[in-house]
Amino acid sequence: MILINNLQARYSRHRLTIDAAIDRVIDRGYVILGPEVKGFEADFARYIGASHCIGVANGTDAIELGLRGLGVAAGDMVATVANAGMYTTISLLAIGAAPYFMDVDARRQLTSLDEVMRAVGAGCRAVVITHLYGAGVQDIASIASYCSEHGVLLLEDCAQAHGAKIDGRHVGTFGGAASFSFYPTKNLGALGDGGAVVTSDAATADRIMKLRQYGWSSKYVVTIAGARNSRLDEIQASVLSDFLPFLDEENSRRRAIAARYAASISHPLIELMPPRNDDGYVAHLYVILAQNREGLRTHLTACGIASDVHYPLPDHRQPLLSDRFAAVTLPVTERLAGRNLTLPCYPEMTDEDVDAVIAAVNGWAP
Ligand SMILES: *Cc1c(COP(=O)(O)O)cnc(C)c1O
Repeated sequence: MILINNLQARYSRHRLTIDAAIDRVIDRGYVILGPEVKGFEADFARYIGASHCIGVANGTDAIELGLRGLGVAAGDMVATVANAGMYTTISLLAIGAAPYFMDVDARRQLTSLDEVMRAVGAGCRAVVITHLYGAGVQDIASIASYCSEHGVLLLEDCAQAHGAKIDGRHVGTFGGAASFSFYPTKNLGALGDGGAVVTSDAATADRIMKLRQYGWSSKYVVTIAGARNSRLDEIQASVLSDFLPFLDEENSRRRAIAARYAASISHPLIELMPPRNDDGYVAHLYVILAQNREGLRTHLTACGIASDVHYPLPDHRQPLLSDRFAAVTLPVTERLAGRNLTLPCYPEMTDEDVDAVIAAVNGWAP
């Protein structure tokens, strides 16, 4: 069986590193907000090219605390896409902000400056740009200048794009702040949950440091609202510090797998996204578009190949929201939600695994 992700293979490849990292923490006996978190925050900020990194409990908290740190508050209208798994929308609802949904382009499934302009024209005070499937949004620099000219706050959600670069800069350095998830299957994954916010603004960083720990300005003295306990722990930070040096090489392997899929998958009922082999792409998920998706999935399962759907239900159609967005239509997002199919794509796959996936997909006889 070729899994959609293989964490066992990942951990066995890195086993000595992981054991050494955990031992360091246990030997020291310091498990919450100690030297490992500080060290990882410094390493990750330096890697991304931002001045500050604040470790938090997961990527969804990173979005929420990042937005709060930028100044997003209850009642604000905030633009986001509806094809990225609902994480931003959940964060907005937690803040009491109102989601405004942007559509995406049919080729890359990313949003654009035009959609941002539409959102700002409609009254959005903030925008979240999601670098989806490992693909950096190409016009992120123009989106960032447009937002700053219009006094609009910008958060980049980089949970699927650790290490991607646009115009020679890492994604996560264009907006006022950026959120990352270290969920185990992300390009940089921990041994459990983890997340971070990066920013180059000292005042924003200071607010987020307080927001992740009860709103304390100093121990047991609470000064700001909207806070909680959301800390990255020492064991996760120690493992992340030791995984970080492998990230670029693992991203190259992901890109190489995606390039082989792009060159070799060919089927009349399957459409591929335009191949991308630049360093703005880190191949987090390899997504194809299939007519009769369920038929293809059944065929792949029979061939011993796992697949997944990212994501089957757009945010504005989630049951939680009932008919609140019934009047909103996002033609591209809605059409693609019914056709997207994710194939296995991760560094631990062998060339034979990749060949087997290609052969199975091309051999689908519906
Ligand atoms: C995974 C993910 C998140 C959420 O991260 P968690 O650590 O699971 O909370 C947010 N945004 C995107 C685009 C993601 O893929």
